Amino acid sequence: MRDPLASLRLMKTVERPAQLFVRGQGSWLWDSESRAYLDFTQGWAVNSLGHSPSVVVDALKRQAESLINPGPAYYNRGMLELASRLCQASGSDQVYFLNSGAEANEGAIKLARKWGQLHRGGAHRIVTACNSFHGRTLAAMSASGKPAFEALFEPKVPGFTKVPYNDLEALAAAVDEQTVAVMLEPVQGEAGVVPATLDYLQGAERLCRERGVLLILDEVQTGIGRCGTLLAEELYGIRADIITLGKGLGGGVPLAALLARGNACCFEPGEQGGTYHGNALMTAAGLAVLDTVLEPGFMEQVRDVAQHLREGLARVARRHGHGPLRGHGLMVGLPLIHQSAPLVARHALDEGLLINAPQADCLRFTPALTVSRANVDEMLKRLNRAFALAKSKPLEIA
Ligand SMILES: *Cc1c(COP(=O)(O)O)cnc(C)c1O
Repeated sequence: MRDPLASLRLMKTVERPAQLFVRGQGSWLWDSESRAYLDFTQGWAVNSLGHSPSVVVDALKRQAESLINPGPAYYNRGMLELASRLCQASGSDQVYFLNSGAEANEGAIKLARKWGQLHRGGAHRIVTACNSFHGRTLAAMSASGKPAFEALFEPKVPGFTKVPYNDLEALAAAVDEQTVAVMLEPVQGEAGVVPATLDYLQGAERLCRERGVLLILDEVQTGIGRCGTLLAEELYGIRADIITLGKGLGGGVPLAALLARGNACCFEPGEQGGTYHGNALMTAAGLAVLDTVLEPGFMEQVRDVAQHLREGLARVARRHGHGPLRGHGLMVGLPLIHQSAPLVARHALDEGLLINAPQADCLRFTPALTVSRANVDEMLKRLNRAFALAKSKPLEIA
């Protein structure tokens, strides 16, 4: 029997539906009543290989049996192997492992400020984008351009300048002598899956080179195959100085990474740390994920199923008067016209489909990179019913 008060013991930081999830496999989740749900959120894009993939489960089991955590000040095998593979695969020089995307972005901010002390006369300001999301530590919230964060937890960490996204002129005007870096998401996920235009990101890279400031890409959501390439920067044909990874890297467990190139590799002993950073258990999971997504043919498969998803979603969207779709690969946003996205997501849950609504007028689809065409087809049926229900019963939970 469940303690009816148990849920009240949790600080209410989010409204959760009543379901209690007890099991997951691939693209499916089951609740405590044995009801099955097709999962197109995958823990907000973290379960890159779906629920409990055997490669991750086996890696965790093996590692847990031999060594969980010797401590961050000692080497462990997973830390070294993942560092080496991740740097090779991404063309980076150094990496630092952390537990979450927000922490990786904090690390990026610190690394850029350190670089500014060494190479830019102490410049420390970082230009970020309106509606951006970089996480929920105080500095990551301060860097974020999410309007709902503005009034929270004042005073914020100073040193951030916000400019409209996809506006190169505004970016150019904001970079000055005090600027040390520009920090952008290749696709703004929380803002409603809004991709950077090609001109914008390429222009941002050029601008950073010309003005002698660093380019930081927050690839916490877009990285590790989510957009159909290992990193989204590849899609845009650019190279950042610093890249942050999280979410998909651990395949569901807390693991994030801060990648740096060239003279952005400037941390020295004592400047960055964390008790769990680079622990053997999480890096073993990360290695299993990375090895899997780097297998020949994996990324082609992602792009192929992504194409199938986009075609199907576009069809359903047209039928209900929504769209056009946004995003890259398996990070897809569907803007809704005159319909509430949270309401549709709620009806979808009733239909056994997990999707989320990053904005009131936008649904987001971030399935496992291993999602099948059959999963996609089943999802479309359930989504279609959710749209119809949201239209016929708009007031029930609105
Ligand atoms: C999710 C996310 C973060 C924060 O990651 P956490 O692991 O939740 O701290 C940062 N940036 C982007 C782009 C994200 O999508």
